[in-house]
Amino acid sequence: MRDLRILAFAAFLVVSARAQNDCGAPTVRVALERFSTPFEFALADDATIGDTTATFATFTKGERLTVRTAGSMIEIRTPRLRLMGTSFRIAALDADAIAWRERRYRGCLEFSASGDDALLVNVLSIDAYVRGCLPPEMGYNESPDRFEALKAAAVAVRSFGLMKKRASADLPYDLERDVRDQVYEGYDVEKPLHNEATDETRGEILYHQGEPAIVFYHGSCGGATEAVERVFGSDPIPYLVSVEDGDPPNCAIKPNFEWSARFSEPTIRKRLGAGAPVVEILTTRAASGRVERMSFRLQNGEERTTEGQQEIRRLFRDEKGVLMSARFRVETVRRDGRIATIVLRGTGSGHGVGLCQWGAIGLSQKGTTYEDILKRYFPGTEIHNLYDAD
Ligand SMILES: [Zn+2]
Repeated sequence: MRDLRILAFAAFLVVSARAQNDCGAPTVRVALERFSTPFEFALADDATIGDTTATFATFTKGERLTVRTAGSMIEIRTPRLRLMGTSFRIAALDADAIAWRERRYRGCLEFSASGDDALLVNVLSIDAYVRGCLPPEMGYNESPDRFEALKAAAVAVRSFGLMKKRASADLPYDLERDVRDQVYEGYDVEKPLHNEATDETRGEILYHQGEPAIVFYHGSCGGATEAVERVFGSDPIPYLVSVEDGDPPNCAIKPNFEWSARFSEPTIRKRLGAGAPVVEILTTRAASGRVERMSFRLQNGEERTTEGQQEIRRLFRDEKGVLMSARFRVETVRRDGRIATIVLRGTGSGHGVGLCQWGAIGLSQKGTTYEDILKRYFPGTEIHNLYDAD
């Protein structure tokens, strides 16, 4: 229900609702940040303010706005105007994007209350969103031989965005702006080749047997992708299965494709909550080659076990995050007969489910089309265009 009171201190111009709400369809809502209020900022552009249905006023560049929450309501105030409602949308009047702090965003900025804080969400068309994800997710390199990989990734990013949207209808936003979902950095990071890949695949998402597909992707599979149930514990999905990625792997062109990580035995002992030194390490692997069970035999005869690929990656975390991948072998450096250092030598990065981003680049460089790249990593799926009539 719309609950809105407008208290104007001065007359203001009501402009066309089109300029304010021309976010395109379908749209996604990306959480940009939460901040405590009152919060004052100056607009970097001429802008309109409204809600999901109408525009109430225009602001001029440099005008100062104060945002304040009051229960579930949010107030936006300037020296000449005070607006109170459940949410407000601010959009640039004449520019392609609207600035917030150091960045610009297509679509509009939506402010709402979230507990004691204000929540800022970027509402924009799915294709504008894809444009802002592709460079940080696929790299800024604009070599023409990467074009098919960028197109494949555009379909995957678009499919993932709309998958999250379907699951978040009752929530205040659809997507986080970082690796929790997909890295989205807005208008300023857009690249011409990446935009062209987005435009050439406009509206295209992956389908399987008449339904939108569940889509994941990752940096580099290291040689074989992983079945979804092995990583996320879900039911098996017929197109999210382990797929061999060539010999040598298509993703072997990734910098640091082969990696190693070293941990002192006391570090791992502490993380395991073990009261005695680790004397032996045994691993169990999935068919894809990833380690999914590690048993640590202790000097006092006890054993500690870590189950699950993601849990194992968390056990071997460092300051940069979880372990690059679960596709590794274990070496130990012994001193006086006891394990002093645990060395993991592996390939690839990420969870391994779905599209292999570096494999897609490798395939693109070999002349593979984006349709065939997608079929390889999501066998049995097909491309469906949102804008085609059913
Ligand atoms: Zn790969």
